[in-house]
Order: sequence, then structure tokens, then C-alpha cells
Amino acid sequence: MFNSIKRRGLMLVLSSPSGAGKSTLARLLLNDTGLKLSLSISVTTRPRRASEIEGVHYHFISVREFERLRDSDALIEWAEVHGNFYGTPREAAENALADGRDMLFDIDWQGALQLQEKMKGDIVSIFILPPSMAHLKQRLHRRAEDTEEVIDMRLRNARNEIERWRSYDYVVVNEDLDEAFHQVQSIVTAERLRRDRCPGLFDFVSGLLEEKL
Ligand code: GDP
Ligand code: ADP
Ligand code: 5GP
Repeated sequence: MFNSIKRRGLMLVLSSPSGAGKSTLARLLLNDTGLKLSLSISVTTRPRRASEIEGVHYHFISVREFERLRDSDALIEWAEVHGNFYGTPREAAENALADGRDMLFDIDWQGALQLQEKMKGDIVSIFILPPSMAHLKQRLHRRAEDTEEVIDMRLRNARNEIERWRSYDYVVVNEDLDEAFHQVQSIVTAERLRRDRCPGLFDFVSGLLEEKL
């Protein structure tokens, strides 16, 4: 009975400097069947990495197609990150929220700010930090998916991204992956229980009070 109380979907936003482990944590969250989270699949003009699948990690599109989507208001937010365009398709996100399904957004700080303004009350934002800049550098090299030039640019951009940490609801330092994952899981669990996310609680509590002993 209590578990069937209807609530609004929440929008879980994860951001971090490149290499902090955001995509790794996102994958663990999505694979955790108990959490029932789905990923908002962004459109991007970045070239596909060898490990990425069209329609699973991103929709890889041309700059022309990106501009068409942006100009027809089909993106809830968009930003230029590390020299490429990225954007969040509006329809999938709005449908999920309306159905009470929770969605994960792997987006940068510019996108997080736009969603915080437009979707107040539905957003829970988490900023992932590396334990040190040396870890960040090492992880970007170990991932071995980007060229040296791209890695250098991402490291140069990292300080600017880290400076945005104060605009997030939560900060998680990803040193030990299991521990960081557990912390993010706990945030999701607690946020789902927030009173103001569960309009159905009114009926539940009224029912409790009316029950004859
Ligand atoms: P990684 O996650 O750093 O390995 O790199 P990605 O290429 O996956 O992401 C590049 C940047 O674009 C990151 O800062 C993401 O947070 C950001 N990003 C990804 N998807 C979106 C989106 O839908 N909207 C916006 N605004 N940013 C996004
Ligand atoms: P991001 O999405 O933030 O750019 P990734 O999730 O791709 O970062 O992680 C960057 C690299 O660091 C990957 O090779 C990943 O396997 C590794 N990594 C992620 N979290 C940890 C951790 N806690 N300890 C060690 N390596 C990690
Ligand atoms: P990557 O190129 O490594 O996949 O992503 C680089 C950055 O872009 C990451 O910080 C990622 O979160 C961000 N990003 C990916 N998709 C979007 C998006 O749709 N909007 C915004 N604002 N950022 C995005």
C-alpha cells in the first residue's frame, strides 16, 4: 500500500570534471535494477568513441542537425563542452517525469544550471570530485579513449568545472568506487522519500487516521 503511493519522477543530475568517474557511477546506477533509473540520452556533435553505441550512450548527430533541434526547442538545455555541442532531448525527459519515472542526466555544469532554473523542485544534483588532480590525470590516461590533445584540453578545463561545485545539492568524492556508489545510492533513496515529492501521502495519512482500531 505505502509502496504504491504515487510521486513525481525526479531528475538526478550528475556532473564532474572529465575523468572523475561520472560515467562509471552512472553505469552502476543504471545497472542497479532495484533503483529503476533510466538515462537521458543526450544528443552530441562529438565523434563517437570506440566503446560507445549510438542510441545507448548518445545520439551522435551533425552540427546542422543539432542546430535544427536547438532552434525548434526540442532540447531542454544545451551547452558547448570541450569544443562540442551537447543537449538534452525534451520529450523523453518530460514523459518520464509525468509518469513518475526517475531519470539520470550526465550533463555538465552549464546544463545543470539550466535545468535547476527550468525544473525547480524536480532536480537533485550531485557533483563528483576526484580525490586529487593527479588521480584525474591518471584516470583520463588509463581510460585511453581520447587523444593526448583532447586529454590535455579536458585537464585544462577541469579547474573551471570544479569551481562550480557550490551550485550542487550534494558532493561525492570518488576515491573508492564502491563507497562513492553507495553514497550516491543513499542520496537517491533519501530524495525519493521527501515528503514534498509524494502528493499521494495526503490520502495515505488520511486513510491511516480514519482506520478504526
Ligand atoms: P565524460 O562524461 O567526461 O567522459 O565525457 P562526455 O563526453 O560523456 O561528456 C562531455 C561533457 O558534456 C560532460 O561535461 C557532460 O557532463 C556534458 N554533457 C553530457 N550530456 C549532456 C547534456 O545532455 N547536456 C549538457 N548540457 N551537457 C551534457
Ligand atoms: P567521467 O565520466 O567522469 O569522465 P569515467 O567514468 O569515464 O569518468 O572514469 C574515468 C576512468 O577512471 C575510467 O577508466 C574508470 O574506469 C576509472 N575510474 C572511475 N572511478 C574510479 C575509482 N574510484 N578508482 C579508480 N578508477 C576509477
Ligand atoms: P564526453 O565527451 O566525455 O562524453 O562528455 C563531456 C562532458 O559533456 C561531460 O561532462 C558530460 O557530462 C557532458 N555532457 C554530455 N551530454 C551533455 C548534455 O546533453 N548537456 C550538457 N550540458 N552536457 C553534456
